[in-house]
Amino acid sequence: MGSRAVSLSSLGLTGRGGANPDITGIAVDSREVKEGTLFAAMPGSKVHGAEFIQYALRMGAAAVLTDAKGAAIAADLMADAGVAVVISDAPREALALTAALWFGAQPATMIAVTGTNGKTSVSTFVRQIWIEMGLSAVNLGTTGVEGAWSAPLAHTTPEPITLHRTLAKAAANGITHAAMEASSHGLDQRRLDGVTLRAAGFTNFTQDHLDYHATFDAYFDAKAGLFARVMPEGGTAVINIDDPKGVDMVAIAKARGCEVITVGRDGGDLHLTGQRFDATGQDLRFAWRGKTYQKRLELIGGFQAENVLLAAGLVIACGADPAEVFDTLPHLVTVRGRMQLAATRDNGAAVFVDYAHTPDAVATALKAMRPHVMGRLIAIVGAGGDRDRGKRPLMGQAAAENADMVIVTDDNPRSETPADIRAAVMAGAPEAMEVGDRAEAILRGVDALEAGDALLIAGKGHETGQTIGDDVLPFDDVEQASVAVAALDGRLA
Ligand code: ADP
Repeated sequence: MGSRAVSLSSLGLTGRGGANPDITGIAVDSREVKEGTLFAAMPGSKVHGAEFIQYALRMGAAAVLTDAKGAAIAADLMADAGVAVVISDAPREALALTAALWFGAQPATMIAVTGTNGKTSVSTFVRQIWIEMGLSAVNLGTTGVEGAWSAPLAHTTPEPITLHRTLAKAAANGITHAAMEASSHGLDQRRLDGVTLRAAGFTNFTQDHLDYHATFDAYFDAKAGLFARVMPEGGTAVINIDDPKGVDMVAIAKARGCEVITVGRDGGDLHLTGQRFDATGQDLRFAWRGKTYQKRLELIGGFQAENVLLAAGLVIACGADPAEVFDTLPHLVTVRGRMQLAATRDNGAAVFVDYAHTPDAVATALKAMRPHVMGRLIAIVGAGGDRDRGKRPLMGQAAAENADMVIVTDDNPRSETPADIRAAVMAGAPEAMEVGDRAEAILRGVDALEAGDALLIAGKGHETGQTIGDDVLPFDDVEQASVAVAALDGRLA
């Protein structure tokens, strides 16, 4: 796209006084401005992007998109330079729509999912279902771009220029399907406004992120924006109605003229009617508009049934055959490093790896595992060095309260003395066994597993290194679990 030039008006923008220069690119970062670039000077939480207009002009900006405040900040500079000025009272929305026009192509079938928890899981499952159905698909979010093509992303919902550059690249690579996470922050900043969605999903709503959104209502409104604004009329909203806020979302989507698919345990178009847990997963029974199905999930945690049904509903909303969608469910795998089945002993006892590294997350992970475990639940926990010291005893406590046996080990000690960190964790779990060496701790945990037991190795998830002092030594919990099982069960590693 390097040497392309289009008129400002063809990007849907009108310069003050009718100015209509040719535009060769768009940028929100003044350091990326080149000759002919449209510089988007957005209001920020700390500084206004208009503070960088002088720099952008020096780099050759041909036009500036900003709000009235930005225009006032740099009025003289822009007049002197004779640059085209576009003033918008909704500058972020204007930027999103302009980015969509500039980059042009998007995968033909796209969905987005919002909610407090489960966004990554649902969008990953949607992508997996599409791929299982033989379609070329990616998901975009906290884990970057994943699927038929992969790339890192700095934000869960990228800013519009990165987002549309990514979508255009995906489309150019033959990717026809994309599933996106819509963070409330991204929605509030209008980042998704230029994205053409076929369907949008809602998982659940709890108090979170109130540091960014001033009130609970503002947080709800941000999420509701996905259905109230971003989704085109005629799109389909797929909504978890077990959550009281889901019922509100249904009303918002219907008022907009959207189709609605409801999902829930207590009823809904896609209705969970039975859930039976075992050591490595669960068997689901559910009904889709009156017809019943029974499917296996190789996933741990009761909430995954909600995530999976929401994902299936989203794929159905895009026009897929329901029976074909449901046939893919036994093939779904968890997001890497989350309740990941790492190894199984000959006696059937399973070893899981999870990135839970806060007291809350450790408690949630162990509680999710409990219904799957007939025997004892064993937990391996630690805490990182040079980080929040207050959480150390709470990590121990969360493990002690929710597991039957706890082993305290090293996480990433960094510059601290590992034994001091362990002592702080042990303070919350006085009965725990202390084993500093992480590989040794995993071996001891695996060794303790009897038939019906399960082990959770918490803290590092998909990380592949352990930071000790200034060194990052190769270390992978999943691999160590397999090594330990192989050694103890006499298999070849
Ligand atoms: P998000 O992307 O919204 O942060 P994730 O899919 O990454 O959500 O899940 C984050 C954590 O939230 C999981 O490890 C799990 O503990 C919890 N979680 C996931 N889905 C749900 C759900 N449907 N209901 C409640 N908690 C969930």
